Parts: sequence; C-alpha cells; structure tokens
Amino acid sequence: MNICPHSHPGDAASAEAPGCVRKAVRRAAERRTVLLIDGCPQVHAIVEGQLRDLNLDVYQVNSGSEALLQLGDWLPDLVLVDCQLPDFAAMEMLQKLHAQAHPRPISIIFLTSPDDDSVPGVALEEGAVEFLRKPLRAMELRARVRAVLNARALLCGLEYQARHDSLTGLLNRDGLLPRIEECLSRVNAGLKSHFALLVLDFDHFKQLNDAYGHDAGDDLLRQAAARVCATTRIRDLIHNDASELPIARLGGDEFAVLLEDLHDPTDAEEVAKRLIQELSREYSIDELRVASSISIGIVHGSHSHTNAGGLLRDGDAAMYEAKAAGRGCHVVFDSALRRRIERKANTERELRLAVESQQLTLAYQPIINLESGRFVGLESLLRWQHPKLGAVSPADFIPVAVNSGLIGPIGDWVLKKACIEFKQLQQQMGENAPDFIAVNVSRRQLTDTGLPAKISAVLAASGIDPKCLHLEITESELVTNLAAAKGTMREIKRLGVALSVDDFGTGYSSLASLYDFPIDVFKLDRSFIAADLTSERGRALMAVTHAVLQLARNIGVRVIAEGVETFPQLAVLQSLRCDMAQGYLLGRPMPLGQILAWSRTAVARMAT
Ligand code: C2E
Ligand code: MG
Ligand code: MG
Repeated sequence: MNICPHSHPGDAASAEAPGCVRKAVRRAAERRTVLLIDGCPQVHAIVEGQLRDLNLDVYQVNSGSEALLQLGDWLPDLVLVDCQLPDFAAMEMLQKLHAQAHPRPISIIFLTSPDDDSVPGVALEEGAVEFLRKPLRAMELRARVRAVLNARALLCGLEYQARHDSLTGLLNRDGLLPRIEECLSRVNAGLKSHFALLVLDFDHFKQLNDAYGHDAGDDLLRQAAARVCATTRIRDLIHNDASELPIARLGGDEFAVLLEDLHDPTDAEEVAKRLIQELSREYSIDELRVASSISIGIVHGSHSHTNAGGLLRDGDAAMYEAKAAGRGCHVVFDSALRRRIERKANTERELRLAVESQQLTLAYQPIINLESGRFVGLESLLRWQHPKLGAVSPADFIPVAVNSGLIGPIGDWVLKKACIEFKQLQQQMGENAPDFIAVNVSRRQLTDTGLPAKISAVLAASGIDPKCLHLEITESELVTNLAAAKGTMREIKRLGVALSVDDFGTGYSSLASLYDFPIDVFKLDRSFIAADLTSERGRALMAVTHAVLQLARNIGVRVIAEGVETFPQLAVLQSLRCDMAQGYLLGRPMPLGQILAWSRTAVARMAT
C-alpha cells in the first residue's frame, strides 16, 4: 500500500498571495483521509466497502508499528484502530499515536470486541473520540466516521482562522510565534542552526490608505504579501512542500519573515535588500499606480532571547530605527541598540517618578524687541533636576516624554504653571511687565482635540489675557501633522492665543502649506545666525535670513531670532530689521525669581 503524505485542512498558505487565500479554500474541499489499523483482512474489506461513497481516501495497515512508520509529516484526518493489535496493547497504541502526532491533534475511533466492557471507557479517557463495537455495522460505522470528520473539520477551520491572517492567507502573529519558538529551541539545544527574523513596514501606507480608501489598501497588502513570498522563498528558505511558509502579517502594514535556516547570517541582509527593492516597486490597483518604500528591522536568533515575543519586539525596535534613519532601509538589531532602548526605558521610568516627586521646574528666557530694546516676552523652558544625574537636558527627556505619552500630563502642568507665574510677574512688574509668555507644545498635545478647552480653562484660572499667551510648535512637527493639527490650531487661534513656528527653517515646510496655518510668529532657528558672519557661509546665511524677514513682513508674521550669542550677531539682526531676539547674550533661561533682578540690569545695559 502506498501512503501519500497529505496535509490536513488547516495547512497553510501557498507561496503566492492572493493565491494563499484561494489555496486555503481549495484545501478545505480536498478529499479527507482515513487510516485503518487492524490485523484482520475482513475488517479491511468491510471498512473500505462501507466508506467508499463518503468521498474519502482510506489507507489500511495490519499492525501498530506499520502505522507508526507511516505517520510523520503526514497525519490522516481520522484513525480507526483495533484494540487487539498483534504488536501493541490498546492503550499503548493510543499513547504512541498521540505522541507521534504531537503537537497536532489526532482523531481516533477505537474498534473494540463485542464482549469487552472495560476498554471503551479507558480509551475515551485516554483521548479516543469514539469507539465502535465489532462486528461493525454499516450504518453506525458511516454515521460515526462522518460525525467525527465533521467535528474535526470544524476544529481545524477554527484553528486555521486563529493562526492566519484572513486578508492575505499568511500566518498571523499567533501563527508565527510557535515557529520562532521552534527556532529558538534549536539554538538553545546547541544545534548549529542560524536563524533571523525580519520585520517589514511600509513607510507611507497610512497616506495611501487615506488617499485611496481601504479597499485599495487591502489590495496593496495582498500584492505585497505575494511579493514577500516570491522574494524570500526561492533561495533563502528551506522548507518542505506541505509546511506553512514562515511569513506573517503581524497587523496593519507590518509583515514578518522568519529565515529559519540560514547558511550564513549575513544572508539576512541580502534578503532584506531584495525585499526593499521588490516591495518598493509600483503596485497597480485598478487604474491606479502607487508606490511606497519599506523599512526593515533584522534580528538574529541567539541565546540572549528567552522567548519569541522578545525577538519580535527587538525586530520591531530595529524596524523603527530604520524609519528614524531615513526610511527605505534596513537596520540590524545589535547591542548598541539594545543599550539605547534600555536607556530610554530607564529615562521613562525615572521621568514618571520625576513628575510624581516634583523634580520638574520651569526656567524662563527673556525675549527682547530689537528696535526699542524693550523686554517684551518670556519663553518657558522645562527643567529636570535629577537627584543623582543633576540637570537632564530637555533634548534627552522631551522625546521620551512624547513617545511615552507622558508629555500629556507634563504639558498640561507646564501650561498652567507658566500662565500662573506669568500673571505673578505681571503683578510684580506692572507696566514694565513683558507682553507675552511663550509655551512650547509638542505634536502629541496638538493632536489632542481637548487642547483648546484646556487652554481656555487655564486662561480663566490664571486670569491672563489670551493675547499674552504664545504657543510654540516646532516646524518639523507641524509639517508631519498638517491635517491633524490644522483644526486644533484654528480653534486655539479663535481663543485669541498667538501661534509661533519654532525652529523655523529646519522643518522643510513648504511655505505655501505654512500659509494655511494662522501663524503669528516665526522663531528663526539659531543655525541661521552663524558664529562667523564674515565667512562665505555666514554671509549666505544672512542673505537667507534677510529673505525670510522680507517674506514674513509681507505676510504679516513677526520674527524672533533664536540663539543670539554675540554683539556682531545682534547688530546684523538689528540692521536687517528683525523684530525680536532671544539668546545667551541677552539673557539665559533662569528661574522666575531672578527675572526681576535681570530686567533691572538688562534695561540699564540696553540703555548704554
Ligand atoms: P526651543 O523651544 O527652541 O528652545 C530654545 C532652546 O535653545 C533652549 O534649549 C534654550 O536654552 C536654548 N538657547 C537659548 N538661547 C541660546 C543661545 O544663545 N545659544 C544656544 N546654544 N542655545 C540657546 P533647552 O532649554 O535645552 O530646550 C530644548 C528644547 O526642548 C526646546 O527648544 C523645546 O523644543 C524643548 N522644550 C523645552 N521645554 C519644553 C516644554 O515645556 N514642552 C515641550 N513640548 N518642549 C519643550
Ligand atoms: Mg521654543
Ligand atoms: Mg527653537
């Protein structure tokens, strides 16, 4: 007898999506297989005869050892096993069948002798799903076989769904995790096997989805799945025909490829390069032609990984590094990246403590009107005095606060504190008080639709005039959040609050798009005010500054030059009729309590 290896209905995906989906459906309709293990030729004849018109492939063997020889990759949908085999006792056979099938479930019907009352109960306890008494009766045999096969098909279908992505037919995260665990256990068992995990993500999928709709997005993902399969399977994956490809859609536009058996670890980078090339090619969706680059994170399997989830997390981290490095490239997870991630996690933990134990304070930096020399404004700048590390730079902790979401509560606190302290200063300084307080807000705060309501509550509580509050938004953040930020900014503007573009000139914004925003002030980045004004670069930068100032005047926007450190810089800005300036030369950021004393000496200095 010839037993052909045959996959069960839950078996996976073909190499080409959307074929993946088609193949899964076709497989469910394939003929199901039954294996009979019985030493009696008459039973063979009866079973074959009775099951003939049930559209089944029936395979028959005479002994337990013969059956075990055949079961490996192949598992029949149902096993009929006699309880009186020549070579194994009934329960031993049952255990061996389960062990051979592990971890896949196996459906077994026991065939017992008419007078045996003890075997059926024990067999059911040991994992047989049914039993039939001999002599076999045709109707009963057919009904039981049909019922068991139907129940199994249902179970396999559910299992398939739980481990697969319905859009592409590829594995999903739950389907991939056990495959990674298998690779890890090979490495941990000291086998000389090398594997790597690639995590892929489209760089502009959201824009494509938003612009062309979800159907187009789904179509692109199916085509992308096909390209991933086609690009990786040929040279890099060693897998037998019936097994599922170790490729998964993790969710959204994120895919993962497990290179299970690499001859050379550096091959993973070659695969990544090919994937970047293939997946960045144009896609045809109906009449449309769209394209997007992809970023890939690579993580090599090693002893340092204790579980599959950790490996996926590191692959994800490397993929985000690739995005931060400019997108359309790959990054390999290494010890330096691990240290950076740990440092960030530490900073985040300590920042949470800092908020609770009031280690955060505000410093204020003065802003001067260049025509009159008057002290006209203050910028509030967050300070963190760490009990052990001392002062931590905002450049280090603000990004961590933004990514962890901590910037929400911190930003609320800054806004409230700055407005209340500004009101105190106004009361102390009377008519010499500055006109405005500028508060930095992050991208996260701007996309919070509750921000305008928070601002108006703070204005009411502190009692400051709305026009005394300036909100500073970094140009780069404005550019990447144009649509989301626009509505919130208009609402804030309606409250009477002024808006400034911070670090202007560093965010590559198109001037036309900036014009759509209700902007009052450009804060010219300090990189425009070169240290050496007589150098060729210095002169070129001054020409750019001159052009920006002219443009700003034409559209009614005022300009504050940042980072003024020397008198020649100040003189040039005055000659170019820049409105205001801020910098160490004029006043360093300082606690509120020092502003009054500073303003007295500053006014005296300006006068000379
Ligand atoms: P920014 O808003 O552009 O603030 C100006 C930065 O330039 C401040 O750095 C200030 O200390 C520094 N600076 C001022 N004058 C000079 C100068 O003459 N020379 C030089 N070299 N630097 C000068 P700081 O305080 O380290 O803040 C860095 C950034 O952190 C800020 O840049 C702002 O983007 C962010 N930040 C600070 N406080 C907050 C806050 O409360 N919320 C948010 N979201 N971001 C904040
Ligand atoms: Mg600022
Ligand atoms: Mg700035």
